[in-house]
Amino acid sequence: MAGSFADKPRISDVQGVLAHPDRFGVRYRDGDADAGCRELLLDAIPLGALADVVKTPTYVYGLAHVDRAIDDLAAALRGADAGICYAVKANDTHAVLRRMADRGVGADIVSGGELARAVRAGIAPDDIVFSGVGKRPDEIDAALGHGIASINVESGAELAVVAARARAAGLRARVSLRLNPEISADTHPYLATGLAEAKFGVPLDAAAPLAKRCLEDPHLELVGIACHIGSQIFDADPFVESVRSLARVVEELRALGASLRRFDLGGGFAIPYTGDQAPMDLDAWAAAVRPVAADLGLRLIVEPGRLLVGNAGVLLVRVLYCKDNGARRFVVVDGAMNDLIRPSLYDAYHMIVPTRLRQGAKDVTVDVVGPVCETGDFFALERSMPEVRPGDVLAVLSAGAYGATMASTYNTRPLSAEVVVEGERFAVCRRRQTLEALLARDVVDPVFEALPAT
Ligand SMILES: *Cc1c(COP(=O)(O)O)cnc(C)c1O
Repeated sequence: MAGSFADKPRISDVQGVLAHPDRFGVRYRDGDADAGCRELLLDAIPLGALADVVKTPTYVYGLAHVDRAIDDLAAALRGADAGICYAVKANDTHAVLRRMADRGVGADIVSGGELARAVRAGIAPDDIVFSGVGKRPDEIDAALGHGIASINVESGAELAVVAARARAAGLRARVSLRLNPEISADTHPYLATGLAEAKFGVPLDAAAPLAKRCLEDPHLELVGIACHIGSQIFDADPFVESVRSLARVVEELRALGASLRRFDLGGGFAIPYTGDQAPMDLDAWAAAVRPVAADLGLRLIVEPGRLLVGNAGVLLVRVLYCKDNGARRFVVVDGAMNDLIRPSLYDAYHMIVPTRLRQGAKDVTVDVVGPVCETGDFFALERSMPEVRPGDVLAVLSAGAYGATMASTYNTRPLSAEVVVEGERFAVCRRRQTLEALLARDVVDPVFEALPAT
């Protein structure tokens, strides 16, 4: 889940939104031109007015945009034996998961907590896969208890624990082996997770020994192989290379007697983060990947996270102050790195546009920063945008994925509210954390005790 890897765009963020209405989930209302200012809409809701009601900072997700993203991917996969398992870590609100369930989309989970959320939202256990290098025994127990489609095992040590827990429960665990496909790092330097140095997965030559252990153990059922090569990948090539690389392993495991059913290609599908980035061409991706994948004779699973929710969400923040330090102009907003950490953590580019675009406002170059006491607390550096005033509400775009899920309460800042929009209506789907709830976690008069005698 690395950054956006976007070069500075050639057009301003406002121009990007004007040129591509709805690509980033939002558009400026037509017909406002004479009113002196244009309202930014998400679906049919003016975001400035919404911010007045729900306060800021607040995440807003457009469910119609999520639907469109699902439709586009489903269209690219139409006719293939394929399944979509949404990567819950991108956006784990019940509202979004519920939409996935309603649309027949499964889940890729990385914790027992995400398993509980997926099941509560009505996602069928048979559509759930469990990824991650550090699954705890109790999390494995929960996955076995629900009978999920596949535990994607990332090491021999983990496989042993899965086998032991399945034996203890009198069950047969369905597992896939997560492998690191050997693809050229030089040509694809952004595929951080799929490389040998990464902590994820096992090398290709470990597949056969692990498969043998599965075949010998009555409590293990090897159902497939899996990989996940990275994130924010626009190109079909690395996916094709991965399939080719893993195809040899499929043959090898079949020769050992494994009856594989699933081929999990992971996630990593890119979305545009700047006004001059085009969306990933999913049809070109499908045209390249489907023939090679079809040759395997396995059900193709994909695990998109960002693709399904990233452009559907915005973070609304209000301008607190404008200040000029001589060398630099700052727009200080009420959202910060604790709410959206991607700019600070990955140097990620997020478009930022006013929710009320004043006619004739001149562009100025500013840093958009938050109140947190870190120099790294910024949403944008040296960004050219229409001049804003205190009280204005800004929309930080493409914040639907890895936004709220990565939030913290650093600086004792309560977690933001989250809102879903459908047409002209909105609903709070996750309440803003209250200061009382945040403070209540502290034990104000802790009682010291000795460890029990051993
Ligand atoms: C994070 C992750 C995904 C989703 O990645 P995106 O870039 O959001 O599509 C899918 N599978 C695994 C195993 C992951 O860790």
